Amino acid sequence: MGGSLGNVERSGPERRLLPWARRPADYLHGLSHDDLERYSRHLLLSEVGIEGQQRLARAKVLIVGAGGLGSPIALYLAAAGIGEIGLVDFDRVEVSNLQRQILYATTDVGELKVEAARRRIRATNPRVRVTVHDAPLSRENAMEILRPYDVVADGSDNFATRYLVNDACVLLAKPNVYGSIYRFEGQASVFDARSGPCYRCLYPEPPPPGRVPSCGEAGVLGVLPGFIGMIQATEAVKLVLGIGEPLIGRLLLYDALAMRVRELKVRKDPDCAICGPRASQRELIDYAAFCGAEASEAGPTGTPEVTPSALAAELRGAEAPMLVDVRQPGEWAIARIDGAHLIPHQELDDHIEELARAPSLVVYCKSGRISGSAADRLLRLGLRNVRSLRGGIDAWTREVDPTLPRY
Ligand SMILES: [Zn+2]
Repeated sequence: MGGSLGNVERSGPERRLLPWARRPADYLHGLSHDDLERYSRHLLLSEVGIEGQQRLARAKVLIVGAGGLGSPIALYLAAAGIGEIGLVDFDRVEVSNLQRQILYATTDVGELKVEAARRRIRATNPRVRVTVHDAPLSRENAMEILRPYDVVADGSDNFATRYLVNDACVLLAKPNVYGSIYRFEGQASVFDARSGPCYRCLYPEPPPPGRVPSCGEAGVLGVLPGFIGMIQATEAVKLVLGIGEPLIGRLLLYDALAMRVRELKVRKDPDCAICGPRASQRELIDYAAFCGAEASEAGPTGTPEVTPSALAAELRGAEAPMLVDVRQPGEWAIARIDGAHLIPHQELDDHIEELARAPSLVVYCKSGRISGSAADRLLRLGLRNVRSLRGGIDAWTREVDPTLPRY
């Protein structure tokens, strides 16, 4: 450490304070002796140094979502000495989070994520201020929550929040460090509408509701958010320090199975609704409606549904419907409803004739989203009396058969 601090001594005006070993109470440019030791590997880097470490200490970074992505982002930013970390999340820690959300320990299960996260961050670095926002980010509170921060890192897991974060960042002229994960793949970019494209330039429209399942439905490799979150943390630190080449205008695509990283150019869309020169949108909108999220939670609009208790009664009756489980074999192996037939949703089209022979049909998945889309497809293919189990096997387990394991 001596060598690098020697450089500091030569270049800084505080050289008479040195050597600090003799003046333990002194601060060097606002960095305590503990700080100098804690951040010594940063101070060794001429691209960071004391000035960079001060920048980090003055920086405020907001992390939206304290989950798979938010965990590595928060831990590394805290370790790096970011002065203030804001966390937006309103969930509680569940056992199924622990496979990837490394902010949390088994003993945290049941606790508010932001509270457990604050404790963990402060244990890593007590100098970090942690501000928690334990409410869903919404059209009403987003501008107010985001405004004080220098950089926003989006670790959210749904399209409505992604568009909300993007639009608020564009309107507030803040960089949005984006990451998302799906099964074995992830992507990351930095959206900064002042010098590059925004999320809407890349994806002007959200996918149709139910088309892209969430990680809670499709699964995700536990280490995957570590890689993508680390890219986000790296970009956030670079933005604060003003060093290197930010991931602006570039989309990083990561495939964990192939272990390949590709990069796509993303251009600013001159017709972008929020960041283009003729932007039609000047304020935040109703993102649940924009993404069809409200419809998708109860199944796509208009899909006939049956509640778990009604289905339980029908299955005990004389004219029980044919019950089709459209999940994957691995999910089927964990839990299933008695009497169901497994036909993964990708294979439904191969079983149309057999399905058409049933007088009535109920399809179910984990949460009701995929089976809602599947029911819609079967109805479009000409089948009649098709319904989707509202809330999926998850709701069934809660309301009808609590002996089934949840996952
Ligand atoms: Zn845009």
